[in-house]
Amino acid sequence: MPFAHAGCMGAAPPDISDDPEYEDESEVEGIVADDEAADQMLVPIHAIGGQLKVCGASSLNQRSGPGTSYTILRSIPEDEVVTILAESGNWLRNDWNGNIGWSNRNYLCSITQTPPMTSASESIGRPNAGHQLNSVHVPNHPGYVVADTGRNAYYGTEETMFWLKQSFDVLAVERPGSARPQVRDIAVRNGGVPSGDWPHASHQSGRDADITYPRPSCSSVSGCPLSDVSPSTLDAAATWILFETWLTQNVARRIFVDSSLHNALKQQARLRGHSEARIQQWFGPIIQHVENHVNHFHIRFVCPSDDDNCIP
Ligand SMILES: [Zn+2]
Repeated sequence: MPFAHAGCMGAAPPDISDDPEYEDESEVEGIVADDEAADQMLVPIHAIGGQLKVCGASSLNQRSGPGTSYTILRSIPEDEVVTILAESGNWLRNDWNGNIGWSNRNYLCSITQTPPMTSASESIGRPNAGHQLNSVHVPNHPGYVVADTGRNAYYGTEETMFWLKQSFDVLAVERPGSARPQVRDIAVRNGGVPSGDWPHASHQSGRDADITYPRPSCSSVSGCPLSDVSPSTLDAAATWILFETWLTQNVARRIFVDSSLHNALKQQARLRGHSEARIQQWFGPIIQHVENHVNHFHIRFVCPSDDDNCIP
């Protein structure tokens, strides 16, 4: 039977059992993060006074001014925390233990919006052979519509809901008035494969969610429909903000997106100032083409740090 409706059905998911973890190319190449895209105009997402940490590079330059033409004062090792003092385009003036200078914001990640370090929920086993305990219901949010698929698959880990909500919080700030996608199947309350119609290979351990693509406009009641999009009907900017929120925090294990949409999303990543090296770390290792993902995307989150029996 041809596939008549959506839901990550049919096509075998990538074999996660022999999926190599992607290597940190920035470490391999010894990248000292600096800037290729300082002139890109970016919408700030990090509040002045907030704290960020160095990420995605083995070290990050702190310079005397907001651009690569300014003198390098020092370099900040990965995972070090800085306080943001000011911003100019793609550059953030920051205080690292009393050392003050300007750094490229592409290599500064959020620490203030960290996921719960401990939660009652547990993702157990693999996404395609697992279950969950103490799951929580997807929260309501003005940024999306929770769709009734008839499968009662509203449940996931606390972290899944935290990361889901967080990305729509960011979207609401950066692109207020964006259309509302539908959040569709996540998992059933205890995970696993329920009786009845279950058109998914995965969605068993509370870390997978199907979401329709943002479009320029959608019904405010029913949300963006479960129908095919193309690069011209996709709101790529809104879609990318959701992805970026997960990618920059390293909480996206996989995002399944039809390959016909990859270039439009890569272009958004470039507009936001991300380097080609970083884009290559995301497209392929994490953002992957899987059949039947032209009318919705599928986000799989990483294993929560306190879920000892979760298998990625
Ligand atoms: Zn799915």
